[in-house]
Amino acid sequence: MQPFTWDKPTDEARALAGGGGANAQYIAGGTTLVDLMRIGVMAPAAVVDITGLPYAQVEDAPGGGLKVGALVPNSDLAEHAGVATRFPVLREALLSGASPQLRNLATTGGNLMQRTRCPYFRDPAVTACNKRKPGSGCAAMEGYNRSHAVLGGSAQCIATHPSDMAVAMLALDAIVHVVGPGGARTLPVATLHTLPGEHPEIESTLARGDLITHVELPATPFAAKSHYVKARDRASYAFALASAGVAVELAGGAFGQTRVVLGGVGTKPWRSLEAEAALAGQPISTATFAKAAEAALTGAVGKQFNTFKIELAKRTLVRALEEVTGGAK
Ligand code: SF4
Repeated sequence: MQPFTWDKPTDEARALAGGGGANAQYIAGGTTLVDLMRIGVMAPAAVVDITGLPYAQVEDAPGGGLKVGALVPNSDLAEHAGVATRFPVLREALLSGASPQLRNLATTGGNLMQRTRCPYFRDPAVTACNKRKPGSGCAAMEGYNRSHAVLGGSAQCIATHPSDMAVAMLALDAIVHVVGPGGARTLPVATLHTLPGEHPEIESTLARGDLITHVELPATPFAAKSHYVKARDRASYAFALASAGVAVELAGGAFGQTRVVLGGVGTKPWRSLEAEAALAGQPISTATFAKAAEAALTGAVGKQFNTFKIELAKRTLVRALEEVTGGAK
């Protein structure tokens, strides 16, 4: 057991001072960090419990949006009336994730920042994991890579991003509000997660000490007509093999603005601009769905055990488009 200090500040300044320290970690619900500390994958010198901070509210934002505090539990967010009616893809993604017990603890900010479930990353007995131990190699490349990514991988890492919620947030053009040593700032959720590239140990654009305070869901022409479909090995408590979060604007039997985001297949939540281009202005038809699905998997690369995900992701996206539009006319 690695010793660590523990603090539970009730003001932001003290939280930032603690969280900005070398090898410090924030903790909220603890559904990722506690596991990883128990198995020896993470060993922070300081843990800063942020559950005493005032970030646990869901509030209406100007223009019909919502402001979701970073500490709002996933279960509460899923049951919020404004989410169900104005941002259904988010409710569906949240309810598809983990188990009811975990959703009661897991928070909005923590869900965005959760770490991969790559089994090699979570097994310190395996020495080759560039994400856990930079420069050591990647056991998944020639190992059992059934759960791994087919989009966004590098020669260093092909681990998937595990969050369902983040897929929905990306489909909704969510904006992440952050406070850090340099002050407060916002960033589109699209720029929060990073590709592994040469440095898979770096997973986001947040700097040391940065703290997510809330996430803003803007009112958009496509948010209310949105939907999440998840394919997995069992009906609950399983990560996505492939998922699709779609948000669409329909006008005159054709697609207007859309968002198409895939989960379970990318090294980060995977927005497909190619699929959105294939939908734009096109009729709601089986042929359009198929073209979008082909476009969405452009550049996908399978390994020995995960190539099936390419076809699975296409079918998952087609189903999401069928269901959100009411089917081909
Ligand atoms: Fe580690 Fe990434 Fe390779 Fe998994 S895929 S073993 S997380 S480097």
